[in-house]
Amino acid sequence: MIPYGRHHIDQQDIDQVIEVLKGDWLTCGPIIETFENELAQQVGAKHAIACSNGTTALHLAMLALNIGINDIVLVPAITFLASANAARYVGADVVFVDVDPQTGLMTLDTLKTAIATNKDKNLKAVVNVHLAGQCEDLEEIYKISRQHGLFIIEDAAHALGTTYTDERGKNHLIGANSFSDLTTFSFHPVKTIAMGEGGALTTQDSQIAARLKLLRSHGMVREASQWQGGETGPWYYEMQELGYNYRLSDINCALGVSQLKKLESFVAKRSGMVDQYDRAFALSSTMTPLTKLTASRTAWHLYIVLMDFAKIGLSRAEVMKQLKDKGIGTQVHYIPLYHQPYYKNLYGMITLPGAEAYYTSCLSLPLYASLTQKQQDAVIKAILNYA
Ligand SMILES: *Cc1c(COP(=O)(O)O)cnc(C)c1O
Repeated sequence: MIPYGRHHIDQQDIDQVIEVLKGDWLTCGPIIETFENELAQQVGAKHAIACSNGTTALHLAMLALNIGINDIVLVPAITFLASANAARYVGADVVFVDVDPQTGLMTLDTLKTAIATNKDKNLKAVVNVHLAGQCEDLEEIYKISRQHGLFIIEDAAHALGTTYTDERGKNHLIGANSFSDLTTFSFHPVKTIAMGEGGALTTQDSQIAARLKLLRSHGMVREASQWQGGETGPWYYEMQELGYNYRLSDINCALGVSQLKKLESFVAKRSGMVDQYDRAFALSSTMTPLTKLTASRTAWHLYIVLMDFAKIGLSRAEVMKQLKDKGIGTQVHYIPLYHQPYYKNLYGMITLPGAEAYYTSCLSLPLYASLTQKQQDAVIKAILNYA
């Protein structure tokens, strides 16, 4: 079976993990900081804070920006559940933003519309999701968000390694927060690098970074100079606000350090595969690759093709089943979040035309570093049956 995505682990990864297992620290040890420093360097960030997964990274982002009850967070309708759920964890409400049906991304226009429609509400933040690894015009999104006093969280679970080119031609790595307050990453095995489970946030703000470190570990302050309670002692620590255990282990981080070294080669391989898929489907009248944005030098996490299932004469479920019978795994990224019963019960019926059009046609094809040329050829051949 060729899955739609999978990790790529080599002997070096295995050796680095074994090294940690033989050492003194399985968690709370030095490899965590090594991982954070390497990640910060690779994405051009001042601070990187590792945490247990991409979902807890988003939750910590909400907490660090003091988002809470009575606040509204704008979230694109096409994304993984966690992008919106994080707002709900802190008691905030979600307004779903429509997407461009050709990219699945929130755009300046769809964001403007959502802001205008909800201008009487207490809009507090926007989560900008870089679906498949691609990013929209971050500078324009930043300008309009700041005009309305909104924080910007980039959900870059798909976009480790992506670069945004601004209007003056200057390049900004995703994670450097040139046009945002915080960026979150996920290192779940289907993402571009794998850590088993793992996540991180990056920020340029030292105070936010320090607070994130407290929040990920029960809010425990160990620095005596910062204690407020009047007690002291070699055993003493102090909790000044409610935190969590969202830490990541040294075992995960050892894998992360090793995987980060291969990021560039993973990105290059994925990019070559995306070009091959695009060329193969270019002349088809029933399928269209995602529109490629010029401002985004994309580190592709997913390969999504938009298929006209009505014209093909088969439902998506039938096509997926036929492909599965040939040993080819595909997936749908994503179901509009407002379709979920939880959100329907909260907010009632919502229909956003861009998200619906995108959802009707999207299909993710296998894309990962260890997909062989032969396997990709087999996928292309199978897909071209529907061209
Ligand atoms: C995977 C993913 C997350 C959550 O990451 P986990 O590490 O699985 O918790 C959040 N947002 C997006 C867009 C994702 O794809």
